[in-house]
Amino acid sequence: MHLGFLSGFKAKHLLSSVLPGQYPRLFCTMRILLVEDHDRLAQTIVEGLDEFGFRVDALPTAEDGISATRSTEYDALVLDLGLPDRDGLDVISELRQRNIELPILILTARDGVDDRVAGLDRGADDYLMKPFAMKELAARLRALLRRPGRVLGATLESGNLRFNTVLRQVVVDGRVVPISRREIGALELLMRRAGQVVSRRALEDTLYGLSGDVNPNAVEVLISRLRKRLDEIGADCSIRTLRGIGYLLKE
Ligand code: CA
Repeated sequence: MHLGFLSGFKAKHLLSSVLPGQYPRLFCTMRILLVEDHDRLAQTIVEGLDEFGFRVDALPTAEDGISATRSTEYDALVLDLGLPDRDGLDVISELRQRNIELPILILTARDGVDDRVAGLDRGADDYLMKPFAMKELAARLRALLRRPGRVLGATLESGNLRFNTVLRQVVVDGRVVPISRREIGALELLMRRAGQVVSRRALEDTLYGLSGDVNPNAVEVLISRLRKRLDEIGADCSIRTLRGIGYLLKE
């Protein structure tokens, strides 16, 4: 458990997005950090992005948001600029000074042209004006995550294995194969970072969320099931264990 930074946070936002049994219909490993102090808007975004297959942790202050980036590997940050403790622009500056390349999408008021310019100048990647349609936010996040250097497309490939991130289907040699949601979650993360080491912690975070009480062996058990599954379905890639470090998908 690493919930220390959540003190004072209206935990329902976070918990509603991660409690077991409340997973979205599509099990997804794209993790988004939302820093937004407006309760109802935050809840709407958490639920809205859930429908599009994103897992969202919502936090209400700049400090909470910055702390969260230290403890969790997120795929993108959605950042409100008007926060109660610090200016959202400071969050962007701080992350960029720490060389954190997390894609950042800022949320601004319709008349906030100066905010948008300042945000982009400080290193934000995109912006959206409030109010916005949830499908536009989802599309912009997908676009951000597709940029060079980021591994996100409709289809991930590794050897003869294809994973369609929209349909959530695993295909081997053109044939859709059965695989459980949790296995898909782990496989997606490994495929997105194919050839790189994925830490056990990152897998735990992604699969079980910040508040999950994870059995210490859960990831090992899951990876061993996934290995067996890859073997059964005739995939020609394999998962290597780097003891004490993490896991690596290799063709
Ligand atoms: Ca605000």
